[in-house]
Amino acid sequence: MTDFSATRAAFHLPEGMIYLDGNSLGPLPRSAAARVAQTMTAEWGDHLITGWNACGWMDMPARLGDRIGRLIGAEPGHVVVGDTLSIKVFQALAAAIKLTPDRRVILSDTGNFPSDLYMAEGLISLLGPEYELRLVAPEEVADAISEEIAVTLITEVDYRTGRKHDMAALTQKAHAHGVVTVWDLAHSAGALPVDLAGAKADFAVGCTYKYLNGGPGAPAFIYVSPRHADNALPALSGWLGHDSPFAFDLGYTPGAGIARMRVGTPPIVQMAALDAALDAWDDVDMNDLRAQSIVLSERFIAGVEATCPDLTLASPRDPVQRGSQVSFQFAEGYAAIQALIAHKVIGDFRAPDIMRFGFTPLYLSEDDVDAAVDILARIMRDRLWDTPDFKQRKAVT
Ligand SMILES: *Cc1c(COP(=O)(O)O)cnc(C)c1O
Repeated sequence: MTDFSATRAAFHLPEGMIYLDGNSLGPLPRSAAARVAQTMTAEWGDHLITGWNACGWMDMPARLGDRIGRLIGAEPGHVVVGDTLSIKVFQALAAAIKLTPDRRVILSDTGNFPSDLYMAEGLISLLGPEYELRLVAPEEVADAISEEIAVTLITEVDYRTGRKHDMAALTQKAHAHGVVTVWDLAHSAGALPVDLAGAKADFAVGCTYKYLNGGPGAPAFIYVSPRHADNALPALSGWLGHDSPFAFDLGYTPGAGIARMRVGTPPIVQMAALDAALDAWDDVDMNDLRAQSIVLSERFIAGVEATCPDLTLASPRDPVQRGSQVSFQFAEGYAAIQALIAHKVIGDFRAPDIMRFGFTPLYLSEDDVDAAVDILARIMRDRLWDTPDFKQRKAVT
């Protein structure tokens, strides 16, 4: 059994705070600050340019990729870290669509995160007017897969409701119709077991600042199946994805396998923080994590439904159909979340009326859940959210 008291001790959480927002930005792993300081002074400070070789900086994107790969069921050597998730969505989509040259439709769903859809629109504007982004309701994706579709672009866990797609079943259906799959794991990596190889996923992307706790602006990752790794064109053909970057050829030759999905100079300081953050996962069994995540989220739902009649569950009731977050609808949800934050319970709000709470067994206990429910119940019962201050919208919600 995974020892979650040990993983909890690995994180810095401010005294008295109950953090239910690790699905947006994970907390600081205690070892990350020291690791970053060491990278700054002992590596950058003392080695300067020679650090690229002496300190292993150039290998970090692949090394960290493999550490994440273990958590998402990827074959070793098929994940690389870099850039931001939006960029990796574009890159995966561009590579995927080239693999189905006679098809023109990208299929996604209305529960997807807008940036994924915006990046698809941007790609289509380059490809030409014969291409189309087709959006259907999340529960209609399976039926919308046909010979007309080139690529599915699906986020496994819905960022607002936590609704989870069946990756294996959808991938199987897609392949039966000759469709290439791109999976976004933003709310899956570090949240639940993922089996990319077992599901035969084609491409996958995700970020590392949510459940993986890599810190604000931590780089993204991309997975390319071994079936495609040596023929997928990276589209963003930067020099560090070149077969031999230091030959400085005038023409682009893609590197071998996943190396071609690198673009430019990796952010070493941010990667040092991520490297330290990934240590917390070394002794975690993802099945234990999933079981405990369900315990915490079921406890939260039961507590809120017993004490807050004005809140309506917006997530699937069956835990198997959810990721590691729970959402409730409430017309004044923004103000209620502000009131919760003022009482040191941190959740977040997603327009138009979703109060969203992430459950992260690495550093959250059942006592934390009970305390959060008590505070939320008091805020709702005494209408503590009903003040002009709490209704005033901030830039980042
Ligand atoms: C968080 C998230 C993003 C954010 O992309 P960035 O480029 O890292 O800002 C994109 N897609 C999904 C599905 C997300 O959940």
